[in-house]
Amino acid sequence: MNTPQEPRVSRKQDVLVDVKHLKKHYPIEKSLFGRTTKVLKAVDDVSFQIVRGETFGLVGESGCGKSTTGRSIIRLHEVTSGEILYDGNDLAHMSERELLPFRKRMQAIFQDPYSSLNPGMTVMQLISEPLEIHGYSNRAERKEIVLQLLSKVGLKSEHAERFPHEFSGGQRQRISIARSLAAKPEFVLCDEPISALDVSVQAQVINMLEDLQGELGLTYLFIAHDLSMVRHISNRIGVMYLGKLVEIAPSDELYTHPGHPYTKALLSAIPIPNPRLVTSRRNLLQGDLASPLEETTGCKFRSRCPFAVGRCAEVEPEMREVSPGHFVACHLND
Ligand code: SF4
Repeated sequence: MNTPQEPRVSRKQDVLVDVKHLKKHYPIEKSLFGRTTKVLKAVDDVSFQIVRGETFGLVGESGCGKSTTGRSIIRLHEVTSGEILYDGNDLAHMSERELLPFRKRMQAIFQDPYSSLNPGMTVMQLISEPLEIHGYSNRAERKEIVLQLLSKVGLKSEHAERFPHEFSGGQRQRISIARSLAAKPEFVLCDEPISALDVSVQAQVINMLEDLQGELGLTYLFIAHDLSMVRHISNRIGVMYLGKLVEIAPSDELYTHPGHPYTKALLSAIPIPNPRLVTSRRNLLQGDLASPLEETTGCKFRSRCPFAVGRCAEVEPEMREVSPGHFVACHLND
């Protein structure tokens, strides 16, 4: 019988982000006497590590807690409990003042670049702003850096004086990426950065992110709602379901030997471009995500799992290492 294990990487690897038992709960109902009666457990005891220089993909359906996890790690949210060791420093309960030196080192790119770019500012102003915040007081120096960043993300110097509405969705995401790189971060949260883009543009943005990673030595946490998007860019992938991590594995291993029924179901839901193969494959992902407000015992996936047995209703499965670096939380692997 496999014993439960924390999903940790080898000791030889240089861990930049070490998340331990992270919880983010939202009280959503109170009694007349002010006591919390209902809690939404958006992130519920999540542990994983991100190695310096890698891309860690985090996937799951909408509402599974992946974005809340990412935003908690860079402390855009307060966290309920747990540790977020960033280069050995626990960010989880730092004050805003204590976080300041880390803010520069961690940046984010979001799904909708239009809403994260002030429409009244030119590209030059948008990318200069973080430079000013982080101490670049010389205007000529800032201009020079902005032009270099525009070139890095495939835009031209004449784009600097234009406004966000004058660009396509893909170009706006390039501006967001340039803005996030202005502070010279080492860690970037990529929160569904390609989900709102045309399929033809998605590959260009992914390739650009990979090139920038190689050139600047960046570490990414890349969040996406389906597995087809993250395979290409991720070294390792974590799969989340209702606030829990259910599987972590190296990218190729996850695709060739998925261990959790939910991962298998997500893989079966990836569209196949060949119509002759479509009929031979069955989408295993049935039903909707259960309500995160329901207090359940046992495995949270059991209402949708075709392999559930009696034990699944009683005991919550814990992570077990099924092959080197491959962790699965399912009783089928006990
Ligand atoms: Fe399915 Fe049981 Fe495994 Fe949960 S623990 S995924 S219900 S077999």
